[in-house]
Amino acid sequence: MLNIVLFGPPGAGKGTQSEKLIEKYNLQHLSTGDILRKAIQNQTPLGLEAKQFIDKGELVPDETVIGLIAKELDIHKNVKGFIFDGFPRTTVQAQKLDEMLNSKGISITLMMALEVDHKELVKRLLNRGLLSARTDDQNETVIENRIKVYNEYTQIVAEYYKAQNKFKTIDGMGSIDEIFERLCKTIKEF
Ligand code: AMP
Repeated sequence: MLNIVLFGPPGAGKGTQSEKLIEKYNLQHLSTGDILRKAIQNQTPLGLEAKQFIDKGELVPDETVIGLIAKELDIHKNVKGFIFDGFPRTTVQAQKLDEMLNSKGISITLMMALEVDHKELVKRLLNRGLLSARTDDQNETVIENRIKVYNEYTQIVAEYYKAQNKFKTIDGMGSIDEIFERLCKTIKEF
């Protein structure tokens, strides 16, 4: 199995690159952001709870997102692998993910972290906000808070995978195809 964690700040291109990787390697996409947004759309209790955090650019509690991933891992059996996009975002989530995967006899292959300049991130997110209904992409204060939360709470998750020799950085500046090439090359070499 090829189990990839695509890592990086909001606006780094995780969603876009996930789509391309899924197509090439035939993987199952698991994006906690997508799952939460669907729950908000369907106005489920989970969605209503999550919305309060998402609207402020804060993290949804660990137990909630871990529960979502546990459910998805149970649903998708017999897949070639997973791409985790936007998860894990805390060390607790990373530890729990390892436990859940280990209990199924599988493990993370590699974490790839997309690196993008702060200015470029804000530009990309504001642009996405113009083209989508994502309200958290339409407010610069919320965008700045999401990047701050990434730097304060999420960035450290890289250390968890570095300690397991499963961490690679990827230059996330340039065209979508250039960045995709870099990701594929890294997977091939790993
Ligand atoms: P994303 O689409 O990955 O940028 O996620 C959008 C928002 O959903 C984030 O700003 C968080 O509020 C929430 N979220 C998504 N994934 C997680 C996670 N793994 N842990 C906590 N909150 C999350």
